[in-house]
Amino acid sequence: MVEPIISVRDLVKNYGDFNAVKGISFDVMPGEIFGLLGPNGAGKSTTLEIIETLRPKTSGKVVVDGIDLDVNPGAIKKIIGVQLQAAGYYPGLNLQELVEMFAGLYNQKVDPLVLLDTVQLREKAKNKFKQLSGGQKQRFSIATTLINKPKIIFLDEPTTGLDPQARRNLWELIREIKSKGTTVILTTHYMDEAEFLCDRIAIVDAGNIISLDTPDQMIDDLVATGFERPKQVKMANLEDVFLHLTGKTLRDI
Ligand code: ADP
Ligand code: MG
Repeated sequence: MVEPIISVRDLVKNYGDFNAVKGISFDVMPGEIFGLLGPNGAGKSTTLEIIETLRPKTSGKVVVDGIDLDVNPGAIKKIIGVQLQAAGYYPGLNLQELVEMFAGLYNQKVDPLVLLDTVQLREKAKNKFKQLSGGQKQRFSIATTLINKPKIIFLDEPTTGLDPQARRNLWELIREIKSKGTTVILTTHYMDEAEFLCDRIAIVDAGNIISLDTPDQMIDDLVATGFERPKQVKMANLEDVFLHLTGKTLRDI
């Protein structure tokens, strides 16, 4: 039997009196793309940051590749790649220099141009991060997650704000990363993206996981309830599942 590469049990996170994550449990299997979907404020980023060792949990158990978060967070850090916010990049350095700097930090031998090539940024090697388009910035930040040759990468809304082409381009990149055996855990608000990329998804709502399955099974389950989309070839899509489960009202108010 294959062991999960990430195992989360009864994870709770309180911010003061506010209960942001309410005892969630899930497993991520090696080599899969696992998606966390849910309305703004559901607790997705909090959950990811706890697994990434960047945020303390209130209670619960997290094991990553057999390493208990409570016992050896430093060992977890070494086998994961986390997409940094843009603010994390030194403004004075160009892309090639940034890759060299990260490689030095991780004590890794990396050819910056080869790495930049994998995200189609070789021609931008001498450019500064701020000179890149939105899609290029996202591709670069994904490239930086790969420098330490991680077993798992974490992508929090990697395609938010991108145009459809840049989005699809990133989808291909994420699939390529998966095809090399890397496990990917991501969040997204785009249901087509989740349907295209994710092997399994958890729908998180107000700190609870309210559904966890393959996108296809979720859609079939909704269709089996008698749900029908007007004038569509398929009876439902993943967006229907999401809205059916979480409702249509704005949460982030
Ligand atoms: P998501 O990523 O699903 O949009 P978050 O994990 O960012 O949600 O946030 C979950 C909830 O926790 C939200 O209500 C948010 O306002 C709250 N929250 C997040 N970070 C903090 C913090 N540092 N202090 C207090 N509340 C926070
Ligand atoms: Mg978030």
